[in-house]
This record gives sequence, C-alpha cells and structure tokens, in this order.
Amino acid sequence: MPPKGIKKAAKAVKKGEPLSFQYPRVTGNPLKFGAHVGMAGGISNAVTNAMNIGANSFALFVKSPRKWVSPDIKDEEAKKFIDLCEKYGYNTRTDVLPHGTYFINLANPDEAKEAQSYNAFVDELKRCEKLNIGLYNFHPGSALNGSRPDALKQLAKNINRAIKETSFVKIIIENMAGHGNLIGSTLQDIRDVIDMVEDKSRVGVCVDTCHSFAAGYDLSDQDKFDEFWKQFDTVIGPEYLCAIHLNDSKAPLGANRDLHQKLGYGFLGLEVFRIIANTERLQNLPIILETPVGDDDSVYGEEIKLLEWLQNKPKDDTEYLTKLEELYKLGSKERAEQLKKFESKVAKNEKAASKKRSGSDISSMLTKKTKA
Ligand SMILES: [Zn+2]
Ligand SMILES: [Zn+2]
Repeated sequence: MPPKGIKKAAKAVKKGEPLSFQYPRVTGNPLKFGAHVGMAGGISNAVTNAMNIGANSFALFVKSPRKWVSPDIKDEEAKKFIDLCEKYGYNTRTDVLPHGTYFINLANPDEAKEAQSYNAFVDELKRCEKLNIGLYNFHPGSALNGSRPDALKQLAKNINRAIKETSFVKIIIENMAGHGNLIGSTLQDIRDVIDMVEDKSRVGVCVDTCHSFAAGYDLSDQDKFDEFWKQFDTVIGPEYLCAIHLNDSKAPLGANRDLHQKLGYGFLGLEVFRIIANTERLQNLPIILETPVGDDDSVYGEEIKLLEWLQNKPKDDTEYLTKLEELYKLGSKERAEQLKKFESKVAKNEKAASKKRSGSDISSMLTKKTKA
C-alpha cells in the first residue's frame, strides 16, 4: 500500500491539478503571452495545461475540432473550468481565446452546408458562454465558387444572427493567409464584414503574424511593422484589435501558404517577435502561440520564456543577435524547401500569364484582320 502522501498526489493529478508546474508563470506581465493548449480528458484540463507552460492567456477548442457535433459540456465540468481559471488568475472574459472548428464556413454558398456551419458556430458560442468565456476566434471562411460580395454579406448576416442568439461573447475574425475566394486575407475584407455587423461591440479582429506575412503584409522589421499597424488603424480601426496569434512563417512573403513555424525559424525571423514583446499597443491582449509543437506542449513553455526574455532587449543586443542567428540557422532547411516551391509556383504562374498574353495578342490580331 503506497504511503498516504503519494496517494493524495495521485488523486490531485487525476483531478487535473498537478502539484507543480513545469514552467514558472510570470504574473503581472502586461504582455499576455500564451498558447493553444490541449483539453484532452476534459475542458478544465486546458487551465492546468496553460499553467504548466507558464502562460498568461490561452486558446483551446471548446469541442472536438474533428466533429460537427459533440456532447454538451457538463455543468460540473464548466464549473471546474471557471473555478480553476479563478484559482490561477485567468480572467475568462479577456484571457481565454477559443478557436472555432476549422471547417465552419458561414459564407458557404450551399444552403444546407451554410446551415450546418451556422449550427456548429452558435453551438460553440454557447459553449463559450457556459464557460463564461468572453472571446471566440474563427476563420471567416470562403466564397468557394459563389459570388464574393454575396459571401461577405452572408457571413455578416450569420454573425448578426449569432449575436442575437447569444448574450455577451465577442466574435473575433482572424485574418487569413490565402487569396482568391478565401475571405479575410486583406484588411479591407474584414472591414467590409464589420461594416455590415449591426452590434459592433460584439465583433473584433485577431491578427495572425504568419497569415499576415503569407498574405503579403511584411512585418519583419520595425518600419514595416509600424506601416502594417498604420494600415490596420486606417482600414479597420484600432478599437477592433482583440488578439494576436504568434507564429513564424515557413513560407516566404506573399506565398499565400498557411504554414506556421517556430519563432525565429521562419521567413519572419526573430526580430518581429522582439518588436512584439516591446509593443505597448499589444498589452493586455491574448497573444497566442500556435507554432508547430507536435504532441509536446512544453515547447510552448520554452517559447513563452523566449518572449519574456525579448522584453526590453534592444535590437543591437549581442546575446539577442546570437539567439536570432541560432534560431534562423535551425530553420534554414525548411525555408530552402519552401522557397523552392514558391519560386516554381511563381515561374509556373508567369508562364501561364505570358501564354495567355500571347494568346490574346493572336486573337486581337485576328480580330483586326477580320475587321480589315
Ligand atoms: Zn486560426
Ligand atoms: Zn492563427
């Protein structure tokens, strides 16, 4: 029979409350660095997972991200989540940023699929409210093969309906990396949707650093970073910024590829994260890491410590420059692979465009000939 103490410890772990955490949490930091944490075994486990990596904010899924429908959150589990957040000092209204299921597309031109998406969307918003969560981040979706202006209108209509069916959770639109029919790859797209939302106090924006860069918004040094926020303020408005997703980009600027990379390994490089760690306007917002960590959440613990280390570090600090170089080297192989892919895509597109051009030259010549 094990001694009493061990039995008690085993019980505490089973309840999802480990006796000590892997990474010490720096409380009172105005920059709320956190990460997307797992909730396996119960949604309240997300809170202890966040504590374990020393996070001051966190993201999670409020149901299985691989299913349209999941069993309801039990009252007991919701209470446990709320109690643990209170115990550890996470404000559920401001420090927790759930991520919507990826396949929700409120702009889907197919009516049945739109309804399926809408039901899942409202279900997730209601789960947030049951957990007293104040923010909900989601992907604005795609027009697919339908009309783009109609898709934007449909998305806004569904946001308006969802706001009426819920009472306080704020709907956060995440900017996207793609182009073409994907909604939200430009700041203007997001503005156009917000313009059609009736209750503007219930809508906000999350800027994902990888998505912005992949969509063609360079943020890699201080001037470019400042220019991006100038655009954000002009097009969308500073009052709508509610959260940041922190990712480096495996693919180059404007590649339209949503490929997250560990901080400092990608084409953005460590400098933008040093800038972010020293940016006043990002204080008190959830700043969520979504970098690839496999099954090992402790990588987030390391990255949060790295971000804290970057606070108050000047650009020319020798230790910082060594770190920047070290991480950049670690990502060189993957950057080279993605650059090759990007260059061959650009070459292919150029070839297709010039073929089209010469084709239209021939057809215009033919038209002229017939006219003459
Ligand atoms: Zn996302
Ligand atoms: Zn993101």
